[in-house]
Amino acid sequence: MKAPLLIVFAAALLPAANAQNAVLFEGARLITGDGSAAIENSAFLIQNDRITTVGKKGEVRAPAGAAKVDLSGKTVMPAIVDAHTHLGWAIIRTGEIGKDTYTKENLIDHLRRLAYYGVAATFNMGTDPGDIAFQIRAEPVPGAALLRTAGRGMGRPNAGPGADYWRPVAYGISTEADGRKAVQELAAKKVDIVKIWVDDRNGTVEKLTPPLYRAVIDEAHKHNLRVSAHIYYLADAKELLRSGIDGFMHGVRDRDVDDELIQLWKQHPNVFVTPNLPDKGNSEEDFAFMSETVPAGEVKKARDAQAARTPEAAKRARDFFDLQARNLSKLNAAGLKIAFGTDSGTTVGWDAHQEMADMVTAGMTPAQVIVAATKTSAEVMKLNQLGTIAPGKSADFIVLDANPLENIANTRKIAKVYIRGKELDRGAMRAEWTQR
Ligand SMILES: [Zn+2]
Repeated sequence: MKAPLLIVFAAALLPAANAQNAVLFEGARLITGDGSAAIENSAFLIQNDRITTVGKKGEVRAPAGAAKVDLSGKTVMPAIVDAHTHLGWAIIRTGEIGKDTYTKENLIDHLRRLAYYGVAATFNMGTDPGDIAFQIRAEPVPGAALLRTAGRGMGRPNAGPGADYWRPVAYGISTEADGRKAVQELAAKKVDIVKIWVDDRNGTVEKLTPPLYRAVIDEAHKHNLRVSAHIYYLADAKELLRSGIDGFMHGVRDRDVDDELIQLWKQHPNVFVTPNLPDKGNSEEDFAFMSETVPAGEVKKARDAQAARTPEAAKRARDFFDLQARNLSKLNAAGLKIAFGTDSGTTVGWDAHQEMADMVTAGMTPAQVIVAATKTSAEVMKLNQLGTIAPGKSADFIVLDANPLENIANTRKIAKVYIRGKELDRGAMRAEWTQR
């Protein structure tokens, strides 16, 4: 009686034949993410969750019976990697954020929203209390971005992150011993990087001092961990470079960068920056793109808040943007390591595309920005399986209806997103998030 059942069961457990797990994508313009010229009329094969072959249409052989997807007229780029976020706190559906809103459910929701917009991995930078982020890191959620985490970042007591509800998450460092102990705790939790805040918040709080952050950097390096610093001031950027910092979150924001900084940085070419250009205001296209995943009432609130800005406030925002854009342009011209990050906490997913457009406004080419947002950020996050479309890489990519090398705004014209070899049902995700 049981024999037929067992046979059926065994068949279901057998790995399917190669052909059934193979998909050949043909005809797209392929931006591989390594900065080389796009491959016109490309073909690439994926098997299970991996890319196995990349080349020209007609030259890539697929196993007999492989599925075929015609991408003629489309452009394919690697999925985006966002190396600076603060996810898990905002409730997108209601706009609520506060000291009690960080939950596992919320963090997973954000990772799914990133995937919807073509972001395959993200780096939470110092605002993860407890074990939730570590649990999600260990067990990736299907159809969601991968999570990496700095755990709890550090600053002076009650002076780390900007928002008051985040302040208690950070370690408050008063002595070098405090800094070393915090690093030891983070190392035991196997954080992916150590995050420090070096900022006095416009003179309102104490700033982490050079002796304190040097102790943190020294202890982190002993544990084979890198340290990334939130900065504001040019002078701090220089002193951190002299002290062995590994990366910057944000560029210099108090003044134009000078040759001394560039020369110092060139002596440490592995030091990266996620520019996180500031908000200079949303266009109607931005609001429309946001509306795909944010309820209409929340979009209206954002639109109203922007409309309520005084002309002076709007000008200040524009000047602040222009300063940081000039600085990014200089770092780029100097050939320094520019990665990609949104600093996103409340604007989840859609703002990655806004940030890419902002980086082009700052003077980078679309091709340079795509490399920053894919290959370089994947390197910074040590996610070697992401960042480019090449044999052996994870099958994480975006199919676009138009070419972003011609106009970076075309990264928003998303036809399909594949995360770890599976196409997302973006229509169902949109409906889930926008219908009440
Ligand atoms: Zn940040």
